[in-house]
Amino acid sequence: MQRWPSLPDPGLTSERLLKKIGPSVIPTDVHAVTRVWDNLSILEENIDGPGYLLPLGKLGAEIIVREADPIERQRFTIAHEVGHWILGITCEQKTGEFRQPTGPRSEVIEKWCDTFAASFLIPRNSLLEYFSGVCDSAFPRHLLNASKRFKVSEEAMFLRAYEVLGTRIAYVHCDALRPRIARSFVPRDLTAEMETVLAAPSAQELFRSEGLSLRMRLGSTTFVCCWSRLSDSSKNILILNPCVTPPASS
Ligand SMILES: [Zn+2]
Repeated sequence: MQRWPSLPDPGLTSERLLKKIGPSVIPTDVHAVTRVWDNLSILEENIDGPGYLLPLGKLGAEIIVREADPIERQRFTIAHEVGHWILGITCEQKTGEFRQPTGPRSEVIEKWCDTFAASFLIPRNSLLEYFSGVCDSAFPRHLLNASKRFKVSEEAMFLRAYEVLGTRIAYVHCDALRPRIARSFVPRDLTAEMETVLAAPSAQELFRSEGLSLRMRLGSTTFVCCWSRLSDSSKNILILNPCVTPPASS
Protein backbone atom coordinates (compact mmCIF):
# COMPACT_ATOMS: atom_id res chain seq x y z
CA MET A 1 0.00 0.00 0.00
CA GLN A 2 1.33 3.41 -1.00
CA ARG A 3 2.41 5.69 1.85
CA TRP A 4 2.44 9.46 1.68
CA PRO A 5 5.11 10.86 4.00
CA SER A 6 4.45 14.54 4.79
CA LEU A 7 1.31 14.56 2.59
CA PRO A 8 -2.30 14.21 3.76
CA ASP A 9 -4.12 10.93 3.09
CA PRO A 10 -5.62 11.31 -0.43
CA GLY A 11 -8.64 9.10 0.37
CA LEU A 12 -9.58 11.07 3.49
CA THR A 13 -8.95 14.36 1.66
CA SER A 14 -11.35 13.37 -1.13
CA GLU A 15 -13.97 12.17 1.38
CA ARG A 16 -13.82 15.54 3.16
CA LEU A 17 -14.25 17.38 -0.12
CA LEU A 18 -17.17 15.16 -1.18
CA LYS A 19 -18.90 15.98 2.13
CA LYS A 20 -18.42 19.71 1.50
CA ILE A 21 -19.96 19.34 -1.96
CA GLY A 22 -23.10 17.84 -0.47
CA PRO A 23 -25.13 14.62 -0.65
CA SER A 24 -23.29 11.88 -2.48
CA VAL A 25 -24.12 11.86 -6.19
CA ILE A 26 -22.66 9.46 -8.75
CA PRO A 27 -21.12 10.42 -11.12
CA THR A 28 -19.29 12.95 -8.92
CA ASP A 29 -20.00 16.54 -9.99
CA VAL A 30 -16.41 17.77 -10.52
CA HIS A 31 -17.55 21.31 -11.31
CA ALA A 32 -19.08 21.54 -7.83
CA VAL A 33 -15.57 22.31 -6.50
CA THR A 34 -16.04 25.87 -7.77
CA ARG A 35 -18.91 26.21 -5.27
CA VAL A 36 -16.62 25.09 -2.43
CA TRP A 37 -13.93 27.62 -3.46
CA ASP A 38 -15.31 30.67 -5.25
CA ASN A 39 -11.76 31.71 -6.19
CA LEU A 40 -11.26 28.52 -8.23
CA SER A 41 -12.56 28.30 -11.79
CA ILE A 42 -12.47 25.68 -14.55
CA LEU A 43 -11.88 26.63 -18.18
CA GLU A 44 -11.73 24.53 -21.34
CA GLU A 45 -9.03 25.61 -23.78
CA ASN A 46 -7.27 24.36 -26.86
CA ILE A 47 -3.98 23.30 -25.18
CA ASP A 48 -1.34 20.63 -25.90
CA GLY A 49 -1.38 18.73 -22.59
CA PRO A 50 -4.44 17.37 -20.76
CA GLY A 51 -4.51 20.31 -18.35
CA TYR A 52 -2.85 22.32 -15.60
CA LEU A 53 -3.49 24.50 -12.58
CA LEU A 54 -2.81 28.20 -13.11
CA PRO A 55 -2.28 30.00 -9.77
CA LEU A 56 -3.46 33.63 -9.87
CA GLY A 57 -2.01 34.91 -6.56
CA LYS A 58 -4.65 36.54 -4.37
CA LEU A 59 -7.30 35.84 -7.03
CA GLY A 60 -7.09 32.08 -6.48
CA ALA A 61 -6.48 29.79 -9.45
CA GLU A 62 -7.84 28.47 -12.73
CA ILE A 63 -7.93 24.85 -13.81
CA ILE A 64 -7.35 24.72 -17.57
CA VAL A 65 -8.50 21.53 -19.27
CA ARG A 66 -8.05 20.45 -22.90
CA GLU A 67 -11.36 21.02 -24.67
CA ALA A 68 -10.75 18.26 -27.24
CA ASP A 69 -10.50 15.53 -24.58
CA PRO A 70 -13.34 13.09 -23.92
CA ILE A 71 -15.47 13.99 -20.92
CA GLU A 72 -14.05 11.10 -18.82
CA ARG A 73 -10.49 12.32 -19.42
CA GLN A 74 -11.49 15.94 -18.66
CA ARG A 75 -13.14 14.88 -15.40
CA PHE A 76 -10.01 13.03 -14.29
CA THR A 77 -7.80 16.00 -15.26
CA ILE A 78 -10.00 18.41 -13.30
CA ALA A 79 -9.97 16.11 -10.24
CA HIS A 80 -6.17 15.73 -10.51
CA GLU A 81 -5.72 19.52 -10.67
CA VAL A 82 -8.07 19.95 -7.70
CA GLY A 83 -5.54 17.73 -5.89
CA HIS A 84 -2.77 20.24 -6.74
CA TRP A 85 -5.05 23.07 -5.61
CA ILE A 86 -5.67 21.42 -2.21
CA LEU A 87 -1.94 20.73 -1.71
CA GLY A 88 -1.26 24.38 -2.68
CA ILE A 89 -3.73 25.89 -0.23
CA THR A 90 -2.58 23.49 2.50
CA CYS A 91 0.97 24.86 2.03
CA GLU A 92 -0.39 28.40 1.97
CA GLN A 93 -2.08 27.87 5.33
CA LYS A 94 1.23 26.68 6.82
CA THR A 95 3.76 28.97 5.15
CA GLY A 96 1.73 31.84 3.71
CA GLU A 97 2.81 30.90 0.18
CA PHE A 98 0.67 28.99 -2.36
CA ARG A 99 2.92 26.29 -3.79
CA GLN A 100 3.22 22.52 -4.13
CA PRO A 101 4.91 20.79 -1.16
CA THR A 102 8.69 20.90 -1.59
CA GLY A 103 9.52 17.80 0.49
CA PRO A 104 8.26 14.90 -1.69
CA ARG A 105 9.60 14.31 -5.21
CA SER A 106 7.42 15.61 -8.04
CA GLU A 107 6.50 12.02 -9.13
CA VAL A 108 5.12 11.45 -5.62
CA ILE A 109 3.05 14.64 -5.85
CA GLU A 110 1.69 13.55 -9.27
CA LYS A 111 0.86 10.08 -7.93
CA TRP A 112 -0.84 11.68 -4.93
CA CYS A 113 -3.01 13.84 -7.23
CA ASP A 114 -3.92 10.76 -9.34
CA THR A 115 -4.86 8.80 -6.21
CA PHE A 116 -6.86 11.74 -4.90
CA ALA A 117 -8.65 12.07 -8.28
CA ALA A 118 -9.52 8.36 -8.37
CA SER A 119 -10.98 8.43 -4.86
CA PHE A 120 -12.87 11.66 -5.61
CA LEU A 121 -14.44 10.28 -8.81
CA ILE A 122 -14.87 6.70 -7.55
CA PRO A 123 -15.55 7.07 -3.83
CA ARG A 124 -14.76 3.93 -1.87
CA ASN A 125 -18.24 3.53 -0.35
CA SER A 126 -20.02 4.17 -3.64
CA LEU A 127 -17.90 1.51 -5.33
CA LEU A 128 -18.56 -1.02 -2.55
CA GLU A 129 -22.28 -0.23 -2.83
CA TYR A 130 -22.19 -0.60 -6.63
CA PHE A 131 -20.79 -4.12 -6.34
CA SER A 132 -22.68 -5.26 -3.26
CA GLY A 133 -24.78 -8.36 -3.88
CA VAL A 134 -23.44 -8.85 -7.42
CA CYS A 135 -23.06 -12.58 -8.07
CA ASP A 136 -19.90 -14.13 -9.57
CA SER A 137 -21.33 -14.62 -13.05
CA ALA A 138 -22.66 -11.04 -13.28
CA PHE A 139 -19.40 -9.52 -12.01
CA PRO A 140 -17.61 -9.02 -15.38
CA ARG A 141 -20.56 -7.21 -17.03
CA HIS A 142 -21.07 -5.13 -13.89
CA LEU A 143 -17.39 -4.20 -13.83
CA LEU A 144 -17.41 -3.27 -17.51
CA ASN A 145 -20.45 -1.02 -16.94
CA ALA A 146 -18.85 0.67 -13.93
CA SER A 147 -16.80 3.17 -15.94
CA LYS A 148 -20.01 4.51 -17.54
CA ARG A 149 -21.74 4.69 -14.16
CA PHE A 150 -18.88 6.65 -12.56
CA LYS A 151 -18.08 8.53 -15.81
CA VAL A 152 -14.39 7.65 -15.74
CA SER A 153 -12.07 5.85 -18.16
CA GLU A 154 -11.91 2.06 -18.08
CA GLU A 155 -8.29 2.34 -16.94
CA ALA A 156 -9.16 4.57 -13.96
CA MET A 157 -11.99 2.19 -13.06
CA PHE A 158 -9.85 -0.95 -13.19
CA LEU A 159 -7.04 0.59 -11.13
CA ARG A 160 -9.55 1.75 -8.53
CA ALA A 161 -11.22 -1.68 -8.44
CA TYR A 162 -7.85 -3.09 -7.41
CA GLU A 163 -7.34 -0.41 -4.73
CA VAL A 164 -10.77 -0.82 -3.17
CA LEU A 165 -11.82 -4.41 -3.88
CA GLY A 166 -8.46 -6.07 -4.52
CA THR A 167 -9.80 -7.10 -7.96
CA ARG A 168 -7.03 -7.97 -10.41
CA ILE A 169 -7.86 -7.16 -14.01
CA ALA A 170 -5.90 -7.67 -17.24
CA TYR A 171 -6.44 -7.47 -20.99
CA VAL A 172 -5.44 -10.76 -22.54
CA HIS A 173 -4.30 -11.51 -26.10
CA CYS A 174 -5.49 -14.79 -27.50
CA ASP A 175 -3.81 -14.77 -30.89
CA ALA A 176 -0.87 -16.94 -29.80
CA LEU A 177 -0.88 -20.61 -28.80
CA ARG A 178 -1.48 -19.65 -25.22
CA PRO A 179 -3.31 -16.59 -23.94
CA ARG A 180 -0.93 -13.91 -22.65
CA ILE A 181 -1.40 -10.71 -20.70
CA ALA A 182 -1.32 -7.63 -22.92
CA ARG A 183 -1.91 -5.12 -20.14
CA SER A 184 -2.64 -5.47 -16.46
CA PHE A 185 -4.15 -3.02 -13.98
CA VAL A 186 -2.32 -4.24 -10.89
CA PRO A 187 1.09 -3.59 -9.29
CA ARG A 188 3.83 -5.19 -11.41
CA ASP A 189 4.54 -8.15 -9.08
CA LEU A 190 0.93 -9.29 -9.34
CA THR A 191 1.03 -9.54 -13.14
CA ALA A 192 3.18 -12.67 -12.81
CA GLU A 193 0.55 -14.14 -10.51
CA MET A 194 -2.10 -13.50 -13.16
CA GLU A 195 0.12 -15.23 -15.74
CA THR A 196 0.03 -18.39 -13.60
CA VAL A 197 -3.77 -18.38 -13.84
CA LEU A 198 -3.55 -18.25 -17.65
CA ALA A 199 -1.22 -21.25 -17.55
CA ALA A 200 -3.36 -23.36 -15.20
CA PRO A 201 -5.06 -26.36 -16.91
CA SER A 202 -8.31 -25.66 -15.04
CA ALA A 203 -8.40 -22.20 -16.59
CA GLN A 204 -8.60 -23.55 -20.16
CA GLU A 205 -12.27 -24.37 -19.70
CA LEU A 206 -12.85 -20.85 -18.44
CA PHE A 207 -11.44 -19.33 -21.63
CA ARG A 208 -13.71 -21.46 -23.79
CA SER A 209 -16.96 -20.53 -22.10
CA GLU A 210 -18.20 -17.01 -21.60
CA GLY A 211 -19.97 -16.38 -18.30
CA LEU A 212 -18.30 -19.25 -16.47
CA SER A 213 -16.55 -18.36 -13.25
CA LEU A 214 -14.05 -20.52 -11.49
CA ARG A 215 -12.64 -20.49 -7.96
CA MET A 216 -8.89 -20.64 -7.79
CA ARG A 217 -6.41 -20.39 -4.92
CA LEU A 218 -3.38 -18.13 -5.33
CA GLY A 219 -1.11 -17.96 -2.27
CA SER A 220 -3.35 -17.56 0.74
CA THR A 221 -6.30 -16.04 -1.14
CA THR A 222 -9.12 -17.68 -3.06
CA PHE A 223 -10.20 -15.79 -6.16
CA VAL A 224 -13.22 -15.99 -8.37
CA CYS A 225 -11.77 -16.02 -11.90
CA CYS A 226 -13.96 -14.64 -14.65
CA TRP A 227 -13.27 -14.26 -18.32
CA SER A 228 -15.04 -11.92 -20.67
CA ARG A 229 -14.76 -11.27 -24.40
CA LEU A 230 -15.70 -7.71 -25.19
CA SER A 231 -18.25 -7.65 -27.96
CA ASP A 232 -17.21 -4.22 -29.21
CA SER A 233 -13.52 -5.05 -29.60
CA SER A 234 -11.08 -7.93 -29.88
CA LYS A 235 -10.13 -7.54 -26.22
CA ASN A 236 -10.49 -10.31 -23.69
CA ILE A 237 -10.52 -9.53 -20.02
CA LEU A 238 -9.35 -11.70 -17.14
CA ILE A 239 -10.76 -10.77 -13.75
CA LEU A 240 -9.60 -12.22 -10.44
CA ASN A 241 -11.86 -11.16 -7.63
CA PRO A 242 -10.81 -12.08 -4.09
CA CYS A 243 -13.37 -14.00 -2.02
CA VAL A 244 -12.03 -12.43 1.20
CA THR A 245 -12.70 -9.07 2.83
CA PRO A 246 -11.23 -6.27 0.66
CA PRO A 247 -7.98 -4.71 1.94
CA ALA A 248 -8.24 -1.49 3.91
CA SER A 249 -7.20 1.23 1.50
CA SER A 250 -7.79 4.82 0.51
ZN1 LIG B 1 -0.18 17.06 -11.88
